Amino acid sequence: MKKIIQILTISFLIWNCTTDKKEIPKTTTKSSLKYATDVHSYAKPNEAVAKHLDLDIKVDFKNKIISGSATYKIEKNVNAKYIHFDAKALVIKNVTVNDKKTSFNLVKGDEIHGDNLTIALPKDSKKVTIFYETTHKTEALQFLNPQQTADKKQAFLLTQGQAILTRTWIPIQDSPQLRLTYNAKVSVPTNLMAVMSAENPKEKSENGMYNFTMKQAISPYLIALAVGDFEYRKLSERTGVYAEHSLIDKSAKEFEDVEKMVLAAEKLYGAYNWEQYDIIVLPPSFPFGGMENPRLTFATPTIIAGDKSLTTLIAHELAHSWSGNLVTNATWDDFWLNEGFTVYFERRIMEAVYGKKYGDMLAVIGRQDLDEGLEGLKDNPNDTKLKLDLNGRTPDDGMTDIAYEKGFLFLKTLEAKVGREKMDVFLKSYFKKHAFSTITTEKFIAYLDENLLIPNKIDFNTNEWIYKPGIPKNQVKITSDKFEIVMQVIEKWKNGKMMAKDICNQDWAIQQKIHFIRNIPASLTAKDLESLDAHCKYTHTTNSYISMVWFEQAIKHSYHGQNVDKKIEEFLITVGRRWYVTTVYRALKNNNRLEDALRIYKKARPNYHSVTVGSVDEMLGFEE
Ligand SMILES: [Zn+2]
Repeated sequence: MKKIIQILTISFLIWNCTTDKKEIPKTTTKSSLKYATDVHSYAKPNEAVAKHLDLDIKVDFKNKIISGSATYKIEKNVNAKYIHFDAKALVIKNVTVNDKKTSFNLVKGDEIHGDNLTIALPKDSKKVTIFYETTHKTEALQFLNPQQTADKKQAFLLTQGQAILTRTWIPIQDSPQLRLTYNAKVSVPTNLMAVMSAENPKEKSENGMYNFTMKQAISPYLIALAVGDFEYRKLSERTGVYAEHSLIDKSAKEFEDVEKMVLAAEKLYGAYNWEQYDIIVLPPSFPFGGMENPRLTFATPTIIAGDKSLTTLIAHELAHSWSGNLVTNATWDDFWLNEGFTVYFERRIMEAVYGKKYGDMLAVIGRQDLDEGLEGLKDNPNDTKLKLDLNGRTPDDGMTDIAYEKGFLFLKTLEAKVGREKMDVFLKSYFKKHAFSTITTEKFIAYLDENLLIPNKIDFNTNEWIYKPGIPKNQVKITSDKFEIVMQVIEKWKNGKMMAKDICNQDWAIQQKIHFIRNIPASLTAKDLESLDAHCKYTHTTNSYISMVWFEQAIKHSYHGQNVDKKIEEFLITVGRRWYVTTVYRALKNNNRLEDALRIYKKARPNYHSVTVGSVDEMLGFEE
């Protein structure tokens, strides 16, 4: 039997931003508590913690709710009198402990965190069952009507748990450090199929009942469900794709290199630990590019470009099978450990599969994103530290380019300092040592010191990178010769030495085209864009990434040719990916077209996920 309270070495130091490596004491303060403090959860895992979930739910498309029960196997400290769960926008109907009805208290919390479901525990408590129902305020669930899907025939449901939304569809101890295994029994209409972040069916069941098992312990934000009329296509022995019928062929073609990516990833940082790797292509209103739900990546259909040019996103979600899902940030203040490592890993996979020049282009685009991110945060320097302090704020505030791209740049600079060979040995051992566990920034720093820096006598300004705002001076310079070619073309075009039609004839990779469009000089006019568009046909591209960057430029340059305004409206109404739509709305707002933005947004808003709605409402100052 495992003891609940173990003596572990964790750090609970609060760092001060003005310190640097030499002034900061070593991070080896001992604490008798197993779990770190998570300001985003009401759970008190050092007293009582859930280790396994049995979910038994029914999906009701008519009323757009989920109802059923969540049964937990728990472990408790001998003195613990209560167990606390996070619950938000849920109706709690009943609670039993060891199958006996018991009293509970739903202590009202705030807008960000939701409520604290407190359940009294008798001495021998082992099992807690919560009977509940979701409401229309449940942010994790998105019920789509047939019109919002690709096939336009059947309804669709998808969930999005990250960061703290799982508590809006399951009452749960919703902290990333609280890993648990789960089984689920899910009942759906017989014409639909259900899949989860678990072992999945390949075909529809006759009675609409589906049973799932996730035997590896995962963080609550990784519990995911999708229900719809889709089918499965095998890509290799352990990879495959789910998509609606009209998208299955295209999707299978787009993702045919996935096995190559898995092999490249394994070669870099050790075996893939989740047996199966599948992707589900969701309807266009999915708010993210992808979500790394274990065994089953959720992906936006906007990456299906017909030429595999946007599959970097799959490398990213796949990399999360190591950084994020296997070794997980303990709290949302440590989010950079999930995303910075994943961006580094993603680019190493792309380099291994498509060559170094490809990886370099991705890194340069990332560096530009980082500059934009830093500019956007110039009034909030504390948010440009890798280790965040999100107390009293939503974890979504930490999901900026800092975690992703400053995190990447830190690792890339470290790689330049120690050499790739040592870096890879270190990362491989880091994933192996911490597999199926969670990690704080302080634990990571201690591990880095002990296993890479001290043995190799390397002096590195880790603390400056992690605890200070902005980018340290020793940052590695990132260049791409393929992009230098693009910049030369822009220079010639600007000076009238190159015609638009010759630009369109360049044999460029998609990243080069994107780099070109993003760098169209402000001095060029709507007329210049018109001649470019006449030849390159950017307004009518089927590549969604190009659409986004081109529409942004069209708006900035007051270009209205080729029906571009109509295309912008169509794009904003059909696509719900937050990054894409906020980029275009921001361009409208910043170029004196707020009225246009609001007019389109009113039409588009019902199609968006709450995550996207939250961001755009705020940006446009929209009130219902
Ligand atoms: Zn990610």
